[in-house]
Amino acid sequence: MNFSWIKSQRDVAMFVCAGTAIALAATHMIAFVVLGPAMLFQILELMIICPIVVAPPMLYIVGAAMRAETLMRTKLNKALERHFLNQIYNRKYFFDRIREVLDDQEAAIFMMDIDHFKSINDQFGHMVGDRVIHAVAQTLAKTACATDFIVRFGGEEFVACLIGANTEGAVALAERFRRAVLNTEVYAQGTRVTVAISIGVGVAQHNLALEDVVNIADQALLDAKATGSNKVVLADQPRTLKVA
Ligand code: GH3
Ligand code: MG
Ligand code: MG
Repeated sequence: MNFSWIKSQRDVAMFVCAGTAIALAATHMIAFVVLGPAMLFQILELMIICPIVVAPPMLYIVGAAMRAETLMRTKLNKALERHFLNQIYNRKYFFDRIREVLDDQEAAIFMMDIDHFKSINDQFGHMVGDRVIHAVAQTLAKTACATDFIVRFGGEEFVACLIGANTEGAVALAERFRRAVLNTEVYAQGTRVTVAISIGVGVAQHNLALEDVVNIADQALLDAKATGSNKVVLADQPRTLKVA
């Protein structure tokens, strides 16, 4: 049985009332079957008082514990949606949210990857690498609008979604992301760490499947890397259409 609906004190009270009513009915049914109707009538007061006194406090303890568990689970799920390192959404959130978005709106998807990140780790160490990822995440979040969402896809890769975008708007924002990252200041061992990203942009026009948009943006990102990095490449439109 699922008790995740117990979220407030009012739900706990409902749980106690319903549980007490069930306890009352069950006690009477058992007594009726075991002792018979005549005997049940003689001890009727006892049969009413006992469940009413015993059941509510026990049910309250159980209901309050279940409420605490539901609240804890909700908090945990919220926390898991965002990455601990940089307060940016995680991959699961992206796929849950993007499907909703693409159902009825146009959107652009940006696949972003920090350039030559392994060399940063190799030269400055992984702790500095972590700081770079953190700084890039903050920069991307600051550059995006409130309705866009940024996701850390894994490692040094990010995805952003710009809702309601046309191609020019999407490319302009991608260019803003790229420049902002280039201006991000991270210092280590007395020098400024050079940070750049490459971005592949896919525009989800009407009736295009999510997989198509992600794939073309991915391909555009590979093209950006293959042709020198630190650049924005707009994907060609995919050929497959979404199956309704
Ligand atoms: P490219 O320009 O082609 O993207 O090359 P790159 O070096 O950025 O990419 P590559 O895939 O070769 O290396 C990515 C490295 O990122 C390898 C991995 O150890 C490191 N990495 C992944 N996640 C983290 C992290 O959370 N922190 C740190 N410090 N390093 C990470
Ligand atoms: Mg990568
Ligand atoms: Mg990289």
